[in-house]
Amino acid sequence: MSILKVARMGHPVLRKATPLLDLSEISKPEFQRLIDNMFDTMLEYEGIGLAAPQVHEEIRMFVAGVAGPDTVLSPVVMINPEIEPIGTRIDEDWEGCLSIPDVRGRVPRAAEIRVRAVDREGRQQVMTANDFPARVIQHETDHLDGILFLDRMKSHESLAFVEEYGRYWEKSGS
Ligand code: ZN
Repeated sequence: MSILKVARMGHPVLRKATPLLDLSEISKPEFQRLIDNMFDTMLEYEGIGLAAPQVHEEIRMFVAGVAGPDTVLSPVVMINPEIEPIGTRIDEDWEGCLSIPDVRGRVPRAAEIRVRAVDREGRQQVMTANDFPARVIQHETDHLDGILFLDRMKSHESLAFVEEYGRYWEKSGS
């Protein structure tokens, strides 16, 4: 396993929409290795999600996972994800991105979603997610369409470097 190089904002790969993955690719050893390497890379850089374009792969797939006292998103691989909001509630909260290092901003997202995706065994899965996991899944799926969280902000007024975010905003919650 290895740590992959993460593309930073400005690299054109982050602005391309990825095509639907041919599911016969999933069982190939190099595809399974890519998934393992993406998990390693995400953990190394303390991310909670990582999409294939962020490691220079134009593949419609992301990995995500986070464990915490309040919010848990078990490690998950989503291939060809499709998101549908449940209800109309929109929440705004802080996001960051491994491709936009050391920056945070407040992003509105659907509070509850239903997501259909194929897993690393090639099985079609349907799950619902809300709040933080729903936010992560929407952020990562956006990467597969060439969209960065900055594009989703209603205003850039909340944009902060992580140091100032920690000093002025982190403790205050949302
Ligand atoms: Zn990101």
